[in-house]
Amino acid sequence: MAKPYARAGEKGEYIDSYYSRTLNEDKIFPELCEQITTPVCVIGGGMAGVATAHSLVEKGLKPVLIEANRIGWGATGRNGGFVSSGYSKGARDIVKQVGESHARELYKLTNDALGTVNRRIGDRQDLKENISGHFEVSWFNEPGVVEKNVDFINDLMGVNYQFWPKDKFRDYFHSDHYHDAYLKPDALQLHSLNYTCHSAREAEKGGARVFEKSPVTEITKTPNGWKVTTEKGSILADQIVMCCSAYIGGLNFKLSNATLPVATYVMLTEPLGDRLKDAIEGKWGVSDNRVSSNYYRTFDDTSLFWGGRVSMFNPTGRKLEQIMMKDLLLVYPQLKGIKADVAWGGYMGYPVHKMPQIGELEPGFWYAQGFGGSGMTATVAGGEVVSDAIVNGDERYKLFEPFGLDYAGKPFGPIVAQTAYWLFQLQDAYKEWRLNR
Ligand SMILES: Cc1cc2nc3c(=O)[nH]c(=O)nc-3n(C[C@H](O)[C@H](O)[C@H](O)COP(=O)(O)OP(=O)(O)OC[C@H]3O[C@@H](n4cnc5c(N)ncnc54)[C@H](O)[C@@H]3O)c2cc1C
Repeated sequence: MAKPYARAGEKGEYIDSYYSRTLNEDKIFPELCEQITTPVCVIGGGMAGVATAHSLVEKGLKPVLIEANRIGWGATGRNGGFVSSGYSKGARDIVKQVGESHARELYKLTNDALGTVNRRIGDRQDLKENISGHFEVSWFNEPGVVEKNVDFINDLMGVNYQFWPKDKFRDYFHSDHYHDAYLKPDALQLHSLNYTCHSAREAEKGGARVFEKSPVTEITKTPNGWKVTTEKGSILADQIVMCCSAYIGGLNFKLSNATLPVATYVMLTEPLGDRLKDAIEGKWGVSDNRVSSNYYRTFDDTSLFWGGRVSMFNPTGRKLEQIMMKDLLLVYPQLKGIKADVAWGGYMGYPVHKMPQIGELEPGFWYAQGFGGSGMTATVAGGEVVSDAIVNGDERYKLFEPFGLDYAGKPFGPIVAQTAYWLFQLQDAYKEWRLNR
């Protein structure tokens, strides 16, 4: 493991995490200290904002991308790195809300986005981890359910996921808690911070201007468009795209009030050497189907990258390591005694309906936010539809119209959401007791 990122933790800098420790994109973009003009100003340099700017460049525009901290500083540069098609809302719920053919079009967007991520990685193999494929495994003993679900998903999403019965899965992942599973063979494990910085650099090479450590403090309407004011400069733009998600603060109340900041966490263990094989022999990513699910993968140096939990609170440091280790040992008690190397958390923007919020608030004022816990392809899909609308007048962004900017209940939303989460956890515990006895 490389040394901690030199400036980790300083104001505006990356937090200490696996990603900041292994950041290989050393370019620091400048602060905005002047007044500039642009056809499109993208606000927020997470995966949504960077993907939007990159797509605009690929379509021939020269946008400005403006980030309050560092590129990928928010959820994007802290996440699990699991990249596959789909959304935070379940497939059956999407069909129930918008019907089958609409749902198919929505899934086509994230399938295409997965292709876009692969294309943008190109031959930069260092932007992804040395493993691909991702399992969704059931925590519950429900014979036949997973297999039936795989058929449904394959047909609806146009993917080719593979059913694995419990015994076959447990040959690779030695936990008594696991039952049937399915493999998403085309899923990637991304180094999401390196990938996002690379994508921002590519956008810059294509003519975008990228600024870091330049928080936007105000957005005002002008006769010809918008004035975006930062601490030390300003941007006159014909159109703007807001991509600030959970970190938006008070910049725009309508957008801020439509998502809840929900924290989730990751821990990296020390290298486990031969002990890793006592628990895990599969070179794939894994996540389970509880509300309080775990998601994890292993690295070549035998360390274990372990994510999980959602919460409105934000424990840090040693306390967080203890919480994460307890979860890990519940699944793999044979790893008792291993140590954490670093643990961190980040906020995801969650709308009440769990679907991305993508659209035009008023003419020339676009937004793409609220991607929840399945944001890696959905943000890229969002960047594509918004840029296509701006450049070509394409209307695919309207596929997201049914999932509007519903009020998420601030300031009480976090308390309600935390209570709902605890109730869901109880439901999972009851289901486990009922089915797994
Ligand atoms: C721990 C964790 C694990 C996750 N694991 C996965 C996973 O494995 N797979 C998956 O698909 N998804 C995962 N997610 C979710 C995924 O990371 C997000 O959905 C996605 O990164 C959202 O990207 P974004 O660009 O919308 O938001 P962010 O990455 O949060 O970016 C928003 C940016 O806006 C900037 N900003 C805010 N206000 C201003 C302002 N006033 N001026 C300028 N800039 C501003 C912020 O600094 C920030 O950089 C995970 C999230 C977390 C936190």
